[in-house]
Amino acid sequence: MVKTLEFGVFLYQPEPVEGVDYNFYRIKPESGTVGKPNPKMYTNIACFGDNALAAKRPEWISVSAQGPAFRTNKRFNLRWDVLCMTNPEVREYNLKLIEECAKVTPGISISSQHFAEHAFCTCPRCVEMWRLSGLNWIDWRARTVTEFLKEVRERVGNKPLFVNCLPDPLLGKVRFGYDFDAMAEYADYFVIPMFSKAYPTPWYWETIARGFKSILKKPVFVNFYVRGPRETWETVAPTKQILTVATRAARTGIDGIIFLAEKAEWIQEFQKNAVADKETREFLKDHGGDEVLELVNRWESLF
Ligand SMILES: [Zn+2]
Repeated sequence: MVKTLEFGVFLYQPEPVEGVDYNFYRIKPESGTVGKPNPKMYTNIACFGDNALAAKRPEWISVSAQGPAFRTNKRFNLRWDVLCMTNPEVREYNLKLIEECAKVTPGISISSQHFAEHAFCTCPRCVEMWRLSGLNWIDWRARTVTEFLKEVRERVGNKPLFVNCLPDPLLGKVRFGYDFDAMAEYADYFVIPMFSKAYPTPWYWETIARGFKSILKKPVFVNFYVRGPRETWETVAPTKQILTVATRAARTGIDGIIFLAEKAEWIQEFQKNAVADKETREFLKDHGGDEVLELVNRWESLF
């Protein structure tokens, strides 16, 4: 079988693993901590989700009629504090980091490069920019997101650019400002995070993957959660569920699958567990996602 699906890992520490096509290092996750680039790893940067910067400059938070975009605002599903994306200081801070990392690493992945949710941002600067644009509110927000992506593209140059989009193929424009067709002009790849601490029902993930693949005009990767920071093996999905959901997503025609873990050691343990689970590997044959099973076959030689 010809290999068309690519695989990657998404790590919070700058140590790569063997057995995948892409190693991403989260140099600045939404916690806002900033590490050092590893020339052997692609660099992921969370832009406007930044807890550290929000703590230092709380007046830069994105705002709405239903309160600010702090994690403590329970009206929204905010997993981190989100800064206003038209703030020139925050934009330049991120663009500078992106440019520096693009010079020394193989490529860039950006996350959190959009509005916090549908109600954001109604700070005086955003409202004034919207008014001057002559556009309706939804189109102004989408143009703002696309224009930031265009600036990112300029800083990244010819290196590959992966753009993460939250997993809503239906209301992405209204909620986050995603104009997927416009974004495809600047992105080389889209990545859809599908993070969950359990994957007992792959049907939903498969549906979302198929939806995105049908509308996005650049290659589509999905990202599954193996073991993030502050987790134990007891608090995350068993290997069997991850192999199953990956195989089911693979058959939707997507172009790549990424696995998130805090560090290389957890991916290696996941790889060993996957190799050892012969029963699940046998069961998943003929599901139409054989490339995931071939990946696990290749992992046999790692240990
Ligand atoms: Zn604003």
